[in-house]
Amino acid sequence: MDKAKLYDLIGIGAGPFNLSLAALLDEQPEIDAMFFEQKEKFEWHPGMLIEGTKLQVPFLADLVTMADPRSKYTFLNYINENERMYQFYFLQRLDIPRREYNDYCQWVAGQLASCKFGHRVTNLRHVKDNEAYFEVEVVNLATNETHAFRTKNLVLGTGSVPSVPASLQGLPEDDVFHTADFLNHQDRCKRAKSVTVVGSGQSAAEAFRELLKDQKQYGYRLDWITRSPGFDSMEESKLSLEHFSPDYVNYFYQLPQEKKDEIFPTQGLYYKGISNHTVTDIYNLLYEHSVGGEPLDVGLQVLSEVEKIEQKPNGEGYELTCRQTETDETFTHVSEVVITATGYKPLVPEFIESLASIIEWDEKGRYKVEADYRLETTEEANEIYVHSGISHTHGVGSTNLGLAIHRNKVIINHMLDRDVYKLPAKNVFQNFSAR
Ligand SMILES: Cc1cc2nc3c(=O)[nH]c(=O)nc-3n(C[C@H](O)[C@H](O)[C@H](O)COP(=O)(O)OP(=O)(O)OC[C@H]3O[C@@H](n4cnc5c(N)ncnc54)[C@H](O)[C@@H]3O)c2cc1C
Repeated sequence: MDKAKLYDLIGIGAGPFNLSLAALLDEQPEIDAMFFEQKEKFEWHPGMLIEGTKLQVPFLADLVTMADPRSKYTFLNYINENERMYQFYFLQRLDIPRREYNDYCQWVAGQLASCKFGHRVTNLRHVKDNEAYFEVEVVNLATNETHAFRTKNLVLGTGSVPSVPASLQGLPEDDVFHTADFLNHQDRCKRAKSVTVVGSGQSAAEAFRELLKDQKQYGYRLDWITRSPGFDSMEESKLSLEHFSPDYVNYFYQLPQEKKDEIFPTQGLYYKGISNHTVTDIYNLLYEHSVGGEPLDVGLQVLSEVEKIEQKPNGEGYELTCRQTETDETFTHVSEVVITATGYKPLVPEFIESLASIIEWDEKGRYKVEADYRLETTEEANEIYVHSGISHTHGVGSTNLGLAIHRNKVIINHMLDRDVYKLPAKNVFQNFSAR
């Protein structure tokens, strides 16, 4: 790391999206890039690396294959280097274990000198001397020393953080916690008399399935409550999956912003529902547990919004006040442990405010993003590319691992001002715009 030099690109965060960019840039010596990540090492949603969970995209959506299948950072090369080729061959699966995707990313991260772990970006400044550049303030979390680095361009890859409604916050975190911390609290669940999962997305289902597997052994009461009308499956038909293509991104991008704001909330089941195989596992377990007419100590409650959680006296657990959303009736439910599976929200770092004067914002206070993932700014000399918080401009696929590779192809082509990667106009069978 050279504090005096002017980098071409500094990346903030090294989750899968920026790690993919770092891996692809490793083949592009013309771009001098550095990526800062606050975690000590690469870790992909560690609290949800439950044994048996799978990546929800084929392994082809690794960090590089969809841009450059000949790269040394492909998942298949990781398999080969780890001498697992025959085992993987006989496995015959595209959907690899989530723990293996994490291990693969760690393998890539360990080879990239451009990725600095244990370094948190704490501030940004746009400077205009003879030359315009960004000054990036970075804390080395091991030494607590702060240094400033200079770069022509930035790429924001700060990802997302757990989102918990205000009404469910502020309770002892050993008893009431988000699914993002599930594995850290699994033993707490095993010791509890009752556990309740709130929410009905993929994370909720995975936590519930894991708890259901162990329920008989540990003897806790298990409940699952959602305000949704059902424990709905994700839309996974092949033609629906084509919404996660560059073609749909391009179509969505050119719609007027009001239209995008109208469409996006209607597309939840493309990415928010539960995978079919997880629902099937849960149903099979429920069926198995009910053999012999034994009463199930399990409850599944739909159409019920948890409006409040209050701690009961004398360690008697927590009282959840719920409202049935169709009849408007309220009821209470008591549980010793409550797991909030209430989703994630994009992390737009506060220090972006220090660039507020050069960034263009829409009337809802969101940044405006060009088709090629640059923030719209008043500053032409320096670009801010962005991965996070772009669903309002680029739509439903913005958090998809496969589309992140497409995004990185677009970013690299733009930075090098040539077609390093081909970007075919037609990639899927269906048309989204009028022919
Ligand atoms: C449990 C879970 C499972 C998922 N499974 C899939 C899946 O199977 N398929 C799929 O397509 N999508 C999946 N997703 C969605 C998405 O692909 C992932 O969330 C993915 O991790 C997004 O990558 P990212 O790089 O944007 O963000 P993140 O993985 O959130 O990484 C962002 C990184 O930025 C770092 N950071 C933030 N601020 C700073 C700072 N100031 N300085 C330095 N570092 C900073 C953070 O520490 C973090 O490591 C899943 C999401 C979740 C929550």
